[in-house]
Amino acid sequence: MTAAPRHDAPSPTRTPGDADGRVARRSRVASVALVLVLLGVSIFAIWTSNATSEAAARAVAASGLSDDYAAAASAVAAEESLERKYRLEPGPDVRARFDKAAADLTQSLGAVRRDGDGRDRARVDRILSQHVAYLGSIMLLFEAVDAENIPAALAIDNDQVDPSFSAIERAVLTAAEHKHRTALRLLSDLRGLEAVARRLTPLVFLSGLLLAGLLASVTRGHRRTLDLERAQAIHDSLHDALTGLPNRTLLAERFDMALRSDTRDRTTTALLLIDLDRFKEINDTFGHHHGDELLTQIGPRLTVALRDGDTVARLGGDEFAVLLPGIASVEDAKTVALTLLAALEAPFHVDGVDLDVEASIGLVLSGEHGQDTSVLLQRADIAMYVAKNQDLGVFVYDASSDGHSPSRLALLGDLRRGLERNELVLHYQPKVSISTGEVVGVEALVRWQHPARGMIFPDEFIPLAENTGLIGPLTRYVLDAALKQTREWVDAGRTLSVSVNLSARNLLDERLPLQVAELLAEHDVPAELLELEVTESAIMTEPVRAQHVLEMLSALGVRIAIDDFGVGYTSLGQLKTLPISELKIDRSFVMTMVNDRSNAVIVHSVVDLGHNLGLTIVAEGVEDQATLDELAGFGCDVAQGYHLARPMTGEAFDTWCAGQSLTPLPSAADAAHGMTSATRA
Ligand code: C2E
Ligand code: CA
Ligand code: CA
Repeated sequence: MTAAPRHDAPSPTRTPGDADGRVARRSRVASVALVLVLLGVSIFAIWTSNATSEAAARAVAASGLSDDYAAAASAVAAEESLERKYRLEPGPDVRARFDKAAADLTQSLGAVRRDGDGRDRARVDRILSQHVAYLGSIMLLFEAVDAENIPAALAIDNDQVDPSFSAIERAVLTAAEHKHRTALRLLSDLRGLEAVARRLTPLVFLSGLLLAGLLASVTRGHRRTLDLERAQAIHDSLHDALTGLPNRTLLAERFDMALRSDTRDRTTTALLLIDLDRFKEINDTFGHHHGDELLTQIGPRLTVALRDGDTVARLGGDEFAVLLPGIASVEDAKTVALTLLAALEAPFHVDGVDLDVEASIGLVLSGEHGQDTSVLLQRADIAMYVAKNQDLGVFVYDASSDGHSPSRLALLGDLRRGLERNELVLHYQPKVSISTGEVVGVEALVRWQHPARGMIFPDEFIPLAENTGLIGPLTRYVLDAALKQTREWVDAGRTLSVSVNLSARNLLDERLPLQVAELLAEHDVPAELLELEVTESAIMTEPVRAQHVLEMLSALGVRIAIDDFGVGYTSLGQLKTLPISELKIDRSFVMTMVNDRSNAVIVHSVVDLGHNLGLTIVAEGVEDQATLDELAGFGCDVAQGYHLARPMTGEAFDTWCAGQSLTPLPSAADAAHGMTSATRA
């Protein structure tokens, strides 16, 4: 078998919850930041491309206009120089060139008019009309030149041509100059914009990259935390929280593995089940803190006495198990068990207190005592129980020598599972008022619907549960089921008191009152509808503690009845100090009272004495009408027995109730008669 490490890896100390929160926050922040940056980058990209293309369009338009104005300006200059030239060398050639210059000007201005804005158009219209006037004066001037009428030519030039030309020239030059400057400015804007974009683009993309990197690292961190948490959860599910030792699940897993290699390699594995003796006393005396601290010291003590590859597990409470794979024989396993007992002998130091611990060990060996983990665990449980009961220290499982029949031993393991699988059912037996015939309550009686053996009655398994500590869970189970049923009856309009039986062990369990309170609250049942039946002998095993628990229960408002009264040795006087409200006369007296007069006298005096103490008296085991009549004569309050009804399921009880009529059980006259005859007797 593979060596299972005895010391399991200590669990990481930081709490996954904190880290989880931090990681989640960080990844949230990172994703938001990344989205913002991506948004920013996109907006930036769109903005730069838009802005530059708009700026470029504006610059192109401006420089086009500037070119047109420049062309117009040079046409104007050409017109002027050709006009002068014509005066010196008139002729068709110069004239044609002048016309061409005039046409150029008109064309350039036409281009401006087409591409420019409203102000350009207005300016062009103004210049063009001045130009028309100018051309008219030029015509007159050229005619005067052609006629060689110099004084006329000079006069036209001075009076008409010059003024209109100067106006045209000024307008065109100013506009050309202005457009040129605008074009230059827009170009430089464009260049600036491009420079900004050039400088910002890498910066923006770099920060995006950085954030993406950050997000990746946060995600990686998150994944690591999840892995850690998963490992932690697996560890937790296989280990006991208090001691860090492997738990029942891991033990069973390793046991399975060991058994498989036993079959393969013809080896044997031993399982030791260790239960501390009187651990509860330590808990009760020193408190749970000391108890817990003591439990954490057990593992290391046991480990010292073992080999690598052995497993120490805590099964719950004060129960530990040790797995010894590859052990040679029962004798060897027993030696190990004795060593373990010796290891526990030295006192444990807990917060300045020295605590002495003893333990009982049950031992089983694979092959010899079973082949299967659950059978072997169950048998180790039984062996441990024998070791503890007979104060043997170590006991090797032996089906025949422990006084339990094998079937009863098997039953013990079954009962644990039966409880888990809800195989236990409650039957209810009515308690009927003798004077009114009214059903005043029911007693819940547990039965075990065993999957293989059918219905098992409580006498067969309650003692077993009492001996093994299973009675605690069993009582809780019965209380839970009984209160659930009570709630259903109350909801259906039937307010009934339900009685539940307690065992001696329950009365020593100080957690019981709290459990009862919780169950009452859970099922929303008023405390006075619950009655708990306890026997005299249960109270007398540890009267002080029992009284304490009963008082706590009574303080909740729960009623207490003394069950099977008369078979114990307690006097009514002794019971006086207990918080009880009901006495149930044991059925052995009631069943025989008609034929056995001494029992009738006992029943009668219990009724009288009980009434003197203010108690309700219940006769159980009423099997016939004669008994009922006589009980009525004694003034007994309540009857319970087969004559009235047998215990039945909740459903059967509902049907039974429907068929009942409310009449006093015996007639009033009979009752009076019964009383006189009994008094006479
Ligand atoms: P008990 O508390 O004395 O319960 C009355 C027993 O007498 C029941 O047996 C009931 O079926 C039986 N009985 C009722 N009427 C008659 C009758 O007219 N004649 C005869 N001969 N018997 C009658 P059951 O249900 O077998 O219970 C046996 C005992 O088992 C109970 O005795 C009680 O001590 C114990 N028990 C039953 N349920 C529980 C439980 O939930 N918890 C605990 N701790 N003990 C329980
Ligand atoms: Ca009872
Ligand atoms: Ca009884």
